[in-house]
Amino acid sequence: MSSSDFDVIVIGAGPGGYVAAIRCAQLGLKTACIDRWTDNDNKPSPGGTCLNVGCIPSKALLDSSERFEQLKEHSAEHGIQTGPVEINIEQMQQRKRRIVSELTGGIGALFKANKVTSINGHGCLIAPGKVRVRASDSQGKDQVISAQHVILASGSEPTVLPGIEPNGETIFDSSGALDFDTAPSTLGIIGAGVIGLELGSVWRRLGSKVVILEALDKFLPSADPMIAREAQKQFSRQGLDIRLGCQVTQVDCTSQNCTINYRHGTDDRSVAVERLIVAVGRRPCSAGLLDPACGLQINQRGFVEVDQNCATAIDGVWAVGDLVRGPMLAHKASEEGVAVAEHIALGAGHVDFATIPWVIYTDPEIAWVGATETQLKTDAIEYRAGVFPFAATGRAKAAGMTDGFVKILAHADTDRVLGAHMIGPQVSELICEAGFAMAMEASAEDLARTVHAHPTLAEATHEAALATAGRAIHKINR
Ligand code: FAD
Ligand code: NAD
Repeated sequence: MSSSDFDVIVIGAGPGGYVAAIRCAQLGLKTACIDRWTDNDNKPSPGGTCLNVGCIPSKALLDSSERFEQLKEHSAEHGIQTGPVEINIEQMQQRKRRIVSELTGGIGALFKANKVTSINGHGCLIAPGKVRVRASDSQGKDQVISAQHVILASGSEPTVLPGIEPNGETIFDSSGALDFDTAPSTLGIIGAGVIGLELGSVWRRLGSKVVILEALDKFLPSADPMIAREAQKQFSRQGLDIRLGCQVTQVDCTSQNCTINYRHGTDDRSVAVERLIVAVGRRPCSAGLLDPACGLQINQRGFVEVDQNCATAIDGVWAVGDLVRGPMLAHKASEEGVAVAEHIALGAGHVDFATIPWVIYTDPEIAWVGATETQLKTDAIEYRAGVFPFAATGRAKAAGMTDGFVKILAHADTDRVLGAHMIGPQVSELICEAGFAMAMEASAEDLARTVHAHPTLAEATHEAALATAGRAIHKINR
């Protein structure tokens, strides 16, 4: 290829990169997207972590395992009689693989429709505007392509704990843990973060006895404290054995099981498990991304440094998603991708970092957007909190999903919504209303004056907004 074939080259086709590429193409830019992911048949599989081993396969398993548990544990109360309920894990995994393959195939189709040139291989920035592509296929030829702009979107990979590396037999990272062909009788997880809780829930529902070892003394420290307390109570009630303040010192494995040795306070303890998942966070995937001569460097933690517009220190080189600062979330990556495309084509783009929602897809679900009470107290911002329990809404009662609540935080003077924190049924969907309210700089009264359909779970948000002013209808206000 000649050295000026494209306006934009994107490295990485995860939710940051593929969305950036499509938006660039929509805006009339000649765009190529390089991605090295291949599936088990060695076919290109765009979509990155999110589609291949992240958001989507984990949600497929969460959904299957949730249905299984509902049928087993909660059919009778609805008057539904079943015989013995069993799970065919191979079939569940096939369903997951089909969903992944349909979605990754969908990205290929979107690339075609938008005339994005899709290149399978490893991309390396060798100079501003110049990218060397090493073909994934051993017969493919290496090439150098160039463009006026390069968007780096190489994502992230699981953090590995030294001495506790995945071995495919007893120790797994999140990708391996999505592929189990049986539910281990006992499952250890290091890390009580998002992955530990979501995948711990999947395998607990399917029959594993799950123990989670967390280094910190606090459970879910970035969530609102009231939400974290309720979540810990619900998960413990379900049988997730979450042990806080545990420093794992050594893991000894045979081909059959692992003994996890850990320190709790001054005590040395151990627990034996059939399988172990290490879920202690993710690190940017930047190895081999930047040639030493390209003029750009990764920082000490492996991230590419960018400003608020995702511009790097080099003109025309941008970076988005898990590779850069901020939460490692698919929707954050995508919004950054769109903003960069619009910067390139239109001269301006924007991401509202203050209203990025977080969701943990456990049962009950957990979701939040904006500031927690802890943050508001630290920043000495005066606020009013309104809390409303799902148990007091007709829809949650009818669905038999009454655990949890919605909490709205509003500024004490302006009434502006500063944060929303939810635990309960379908809060992954309910959080969008709160995020929209915050993005529109709405007040709690705006939410309270919005007519919410009855009976819906969203009435809990409506009532929580009313509660910030002490006027919820279906609870006694104190
Ligand atoms: P990635 O999705 O990591 O994509 C990067 C792509 O670039 C990959 O295809 C990679 O192979 C490719 N690549 C890397 N280096 C090169 C190179 N040099 N050349 C060519 N290609 C390269 N987030 C949510 O918001 N919601 C969820 O429910 C959620 N669930 C998750 C569940 C799990 C188990 C995991 C592991 C993650 C989950 N995440 C979730 C996080 C989410 O997957 C990431 O935040 C998101 O995928 C980041 O997008 P990205 O485009 O920055 O990078
Ligand atoms: P995480 O940061 O959510 O949690 C990691 C946990 O491991 C933390 O609680 C941390 O204190 C603990 N930890 C770290 N080192 C430890 C050690 N040596 N021993 C014991 N505990 C230790 O990371 P994760 O769960 O691996 O997930 C990675 C990222 O992927 C998330 O932060 C999130 O950005 C993304 N993700 C998002 C979703 C979602 O949006 N629903 C789901 C899965 C993953």
